[in-house]
Amino acid sequence: MTAVSVIENPKTNLLGLSQQKLEQFFEGLGEKRFRAVQVLKWIHQMGVDSFDEMSNISKGLRAKLNQLAVIEAPEVLQQLDSADGTRKFIIRVAGGSAIETVFIPDGERGTLCVSSQVGCSLDCSFCSTGKQGFNRDLSAAEIIGQVWIAAKSFGQFGPNGPRKITNVVMMGMGEPLLNFDNVVDAMNLMMHDNCYGISKRRVTLSTSGVVPALDKLRGLTDACLAISLHAPNDELRNKLVPINKKYPIAMLLESSVRYIESLPDNHRKITIEYTLIDQLNDRTEHARQLAELLRDIPVKINLIPFNPFPQSDYKRVSNNALYRFRDILTQEGFVTTVRTTRGDDIDAACGQLAGQVNDKTRRQQRYQAQAIRLINEG
Ligand code: SAH
Ligand code: SF4
Repeated sequence: MTAVSVIENPKTNLLGLSQQKLEQFFEGLGEKRFRAVQVLKWIHQMGVDSFDEMSNISKGLRAKLNQLAVIEAPEVLQQLDSADGTRKFIIRVAGGSAIETVFIPDGERGTLCVSSQVGCSLDCSFCSTGKQGFNRDLSAAEIIGQVWIAAKSFGQFGPNGPRKITNVVMMGMGEPLLNFDNVVDAMNLMMHDNCYGISKRRVTLSTSGVVPALDKLRGLTDACLAISLHAPNDELRNKLVPINKKYPIAMLLESSVRYIESLPDNHRKITIEYTLIDQLNDRTEHARQLAELLRDIPVKINLIPFNPFPQSDYKRVSNNALYRFRDILTQEGFVTTVRTTRGDDIDAACGQLAGQVNDKTRRQQRYQAQAIRLINEG
């Protein structure tokens, strides 16, 4: 990636630039580096998208910025509020596609589920995003823009704004590790003290297991890690998560442990996501095998009842099987949580494509936005 990315618009969009890239941008203008932090604060702490409001920047420089740059978040097509406080944004991104971003409140915590790509190329058999295929990567501005938009909707900006968004999970549409640079830049802005200041223990990247990219992550960010495992052995996982054929479970778990062990605070656990599908991966022997597999790894397990959608024959796990599965893992000593349904009345599917605008895919699957609320517990 080039030092300063110019996004479609001939003007540079400063919204998605990391501190380092913003410093390079200002140096390129013959300005001092500290301008970068000033501008970061205006954008991400104050919610400002006009250079004219930046009162500690000289008039001359503001004029220059107006000529050369913009601060441009993607457009919100619709904001939907659920009776339970869940808020969904349908957001138009360049090229006419739409993505969804979902905010899920839970007591003091507010989790934002953020998308990284339009569609996904990995084609997991239980995932509607995968069924739609891959359209394109989101820019860093479109990723951090989802946080900016949500924060703005809650009046979170400014010195006295409420801190509604306490957690972010990269669990919307797309495989974050396949859009590596943009996702790393956006996550680092989320955690940056001069931006959103979200704790590194509360920003989570979820991956289906792109091992070389996961290995590259060490040292570039210190966000939390969630692994979409969904099966306790390679034979079954190959059917559910095709990338497993390339990077099997043992390889993925080793890479995950290397990442988690590289973090300066050594108490962190890997979140294991396990979507339970009726009669497929929900049997007692699967739970026992999973416990065996994860025995010596620092994990917490998040069970997600499969959410059916029209193009899939899979069925949701029965409640009996779900709680039996959970109980086995709990008895084996694992912190195990079950993701519960939230935002049902607004069809709050985390990061799901609302459709090419007007598309029939609008009636899509409601799935995991339901509530990621337990993801950071344990
Ligand atoms: N690509 C990344 C992040 C986005 S998917 C990944 O796979 O981890 C986020 C989570 O939603 C994954 O754990 C995935 O397994 C889950 N998911 C996808 N489709 C689902 C469905 N129909 N029902 C329940 N969970 C689903
Ligand atoms: Fe892509 Fe994740 Fe869906 Fe798999 S589960 S197709 S990796 S978005």
